[in-house]
Amino acid sequence: MASHMLSFPQTDEFVLSHARVPLCLTTASPLPAAGEGLGACDLFIRGGRIADIAAPGTLGVAAPVVDCDQGIVLPRLVDLHTHLDKGHIWPRRANPDGTHGGARISVMEDRAANWNADDVRARMDFALRCAYAHGTRAVRTHIDSLGKQAAISWPVFAELREMWKGRIDLQAVALFPIDYALDDEPMFRALVARVAHHGGVLGGMTFLGSVDDRCRLALSRLFEAAAANGLDLDFHVDETDEREARTLGAIADAVQSTGFAGRVVAGHCCSLALAPDSEREETIKRVADAGLSIVSLPICNMYLMGRAANRTPRWRGVTTVHEFAAAGVSVSVASDNTRDPFYAYGDLDLLEVYRESVRILQLDHGKPDWLRLVASTPAQVMGLPDHGRLEAGLAADLIILRARSFNEMNARPQSDRTVLVKGRAIDTAPPDYRELDPWVGAP
Ligand SMILES: [Zn+2]
Repeated sequence: MASHMLSFPQTDEFVLSHARVPLCLTTASPLPAAGEGLGACDLFIRGGRIADIAAPGTLGVAAPVVDCDQGIVLPRLVDLHTHLDKGHIWPRRANPDGTHGGARISVMEDRAANWNADDVRARMDFALRCAYAHGTRAVRTHIDSLGKQAAISWPVFAELREMWKGRIDLQAVALFPIDYALDDEPMFRALVARVAHHGGVLGGMTFLGSVDDRCRLALSRLFEAAAANGLDLDFHVDETDEREARTLGAIADAVQSTGFAGRVVAGHCCSLALAPDSEREETIKRVADAGLSIVSLPICNMYLMGRAANRTPRWRGVTTVHEFAAAGVSVSVASDNTRDPFYAYGDLDLLEVYRESVRILQLDHGKPDWLRLVASTPAQVMGLPDHGRLEAGLAADLIILRARSFNEMNARPQSDRTVLVKGRAIDTAPPDYRELDPWVGAP
């Protein structure tokens, strides 16, 4: 592995030569085609930025050369949906049976017993160091925000956002069952104020059954609160095997009936894949008309959905990503949970998420621009349009691979990747699990 490591000059000007870039992530042209939607190019890096991208040998600058040897160059990637506050508790709180219900109970117990500020901070920071080492530029995390936990976790989030500024852009979403807005109005109002104070996003987990008046009422309270405070919305939606779960359509309707002007993201949306064709098509049309953004969490949902003891899973647990994309809906894929009861594994590595998404969602044998799902699309949804793209003038925040094709890229974990942050190579070794032993216990 070491023999493949690139070595960089001690100057802040150099050329990355013989690179291949996904044409869906750049407007630089004309770049000679290099197969699979890749273009051949050289990148001129100056002062921590991409100064120019041009066809090989045409930059016309005199600067030291770092030869990528036909390797793929990507922008640092964008993770639209994570749970940093739950991360890495697996050693002390495993999921008893691998189900979504088992995960909810285990996390509730662990939160009550252990989630003080030091514990949350240590695990969140560890998770961010994983993401950073793998080449992530921005992370949105949901924060469990029921009762007294909000006052513990949101200040820790604010502290880490400050600490990580310039390395990872961090956003947070308040997570709670949406009926919190009906059952405990004073606490809900205090939470909305806290989220607004921290510049967060309002969210919530919708009901896991069919839509009733109570569900519609809870949604309308959330939309009102978001509109009154200028907040965006980001929901956990229909994460269930239950065919009747249809809150996605109710969210689309709420956008239309309230004329909500903010951004609305719907995560998971698993049960839509189980709906009859006509109902699915109709829901997707409502989602498109309402301008919702969808985020699928393929690795986590394949772990949780369709699980029953001593029975082989019958479906992959993922929403209808191809159909959303075909309908012009903004659709992303993201990490979701890491080493907690909702997902036992994971390391906030978006190249892993993308590689597994290609397998789970069959993103191969079709159009070659799916890399947007972990790059420019989630960046747009997060209001960070300069991230997840390769353009002259943008920061030289890059992942450089030995892989020359998407086939080589998706066949291996890409553990020998190089990550540049503002034009400088960073240490790509993820942190050691032993650091977390004082918090979660040694295995
Ligand atoms: Zn989630």
